[in-house]
Amino acid sequence: MTNWSKRTRAIHSGIRRSQYNELSEAMFLTQGFVYETAEQAEARFVKLGEDEFIYARYGNPTVAMLEDRLADLEGVEAGFATASGMAAVNGALMSLLKAGDHVVSSRALFGSCLYILEDVLARFGVEITLVDGRDLDAWKAAIRPDTRLVFCESISNPTLEVIDLKAVCDLAHANGALVVCDNAMATPVYSYAAEAGADLIVYSTTKHVDGQGRCLGGIILGKRDLVRGPVEAYLKHTGGAMSPFNAWVMLKSLDTIDLRVRAQTATVLKLVDALENHPKLSRVVYPGHPSHPQYALASRQAEAAGTVFAIEVKGGREACFKFLNALEVFTISNNFADSKSIVTHPATTTHQRLPQEQKDTLGITPGLVRVSCGLEDPEDLLRDLLNALDVA
Ligand SMILES: *Cc1c(COP(=O)(O)O)cnc(C)c1O
Repeated sequence: MTNWSKRTRAIHSGIRRSQYNELSEAMFLTQGFVYETAEQAEARFVKLGEDEFIYARYGNPTVAMLEDRLADLEGVEAGFATASGMAAVNGALMSLLKAGDHVVSSRALFGSCLYILEDVLARFGVEITLVDGRDLDAWKAAIRPDTRLVFCESISNPTLEVIDLKAVCDLAHANGALVVCDNAMATPVYSYAAEAGADLIVYSTTKHVDGQGRCLGGIILGKRDLVRGPVEAYLKHTGGAMSPFNAWVMLKSLDTIDLRVRAQTATVLKLVDALENHPKLSRVVYPGHPSHPQYALASRQAEAAGTVFAIEVKGGREACFKFLNALEVFTISNNFADSKSIVTHPATTTHQRLPQEQKDTLGITPGLVRVSCGLEDPEDLLRDLLNALDVA
């Protein structure tokens, strides 16, 4: 489908029709598959053909449709869908690393990604160097000839630091290291990770792909030799596979991802514009807005910087909680990219676990709020934010 635009491919790519020629993607809610003969069973275990299945932990037709569709959207050869975004991050890292390897990563990471690097991988003898992802010189100083892997969130959660992904990929590749990019905030709609050179691109499909708060999921995307090689081998034996039911929900969600993400982005821009100089806010953070120090980089890399922005309410935690509790349309939750607009207080929820020093370095202050724009009327969302700021 590569001749067509992303919006079209999000609806049609990867489709597999059964003998009934159904219009909508079928849900193959089956664990296993049967064989005509013992010889056929034997042959499948020796070598699995392109569209053959033996067990849903290894692969399933509904899951394969989602994998092929997301790979096509990303412009890469292959994908492996996982039970959650974290199963994808873990699978990508564990399938490529071994004891003694050196990893360089940006330090502004989602809490669970930090846990995998600093707690799990370190326990297995992998050396981790964390750097300020915005600082190319820091990447240069940290990446060594024996660095095996570079990890980053292309746009960090929740402080929206932007990585110069092509420059980081070039540095990594010049040293023979592979790049794994967690692209959740950048969204599949605006992704530039494959062009920039990332070897594996990871999504929590819980976010924009489902986008309606129902199912957990994740995917690892990249070249066929990596995805169908070490990634698939690790995941099919360790059990991180996506449920066919979740894959089906997400396939149907992809019909609207382009419309949803663009509408959510337009809302972000409207709200950021309106809040920019609000007297109750000390910061409004969105890399897709000219007020952001990384605006030039963000707009060179992609059409937009996603569906989430951040604000810092003056007056610390007390004023911030008053603001959060006064909101009527925005809901307090810890997810983002949902059709419902969501506010999150990272310091006390998603990033609570981090030591104060690390929170300070990352700018996760008591007044910081992550704002995820949903699909409600943008005027209502603005009115809700302004009313609640009056209370703060
Ligand atoms: C949400 C998120 C994850 C984890 O995804 P789950 O589907 O919740 O497991 C990983 N990385 C980033 C950047 C995220 O935002």
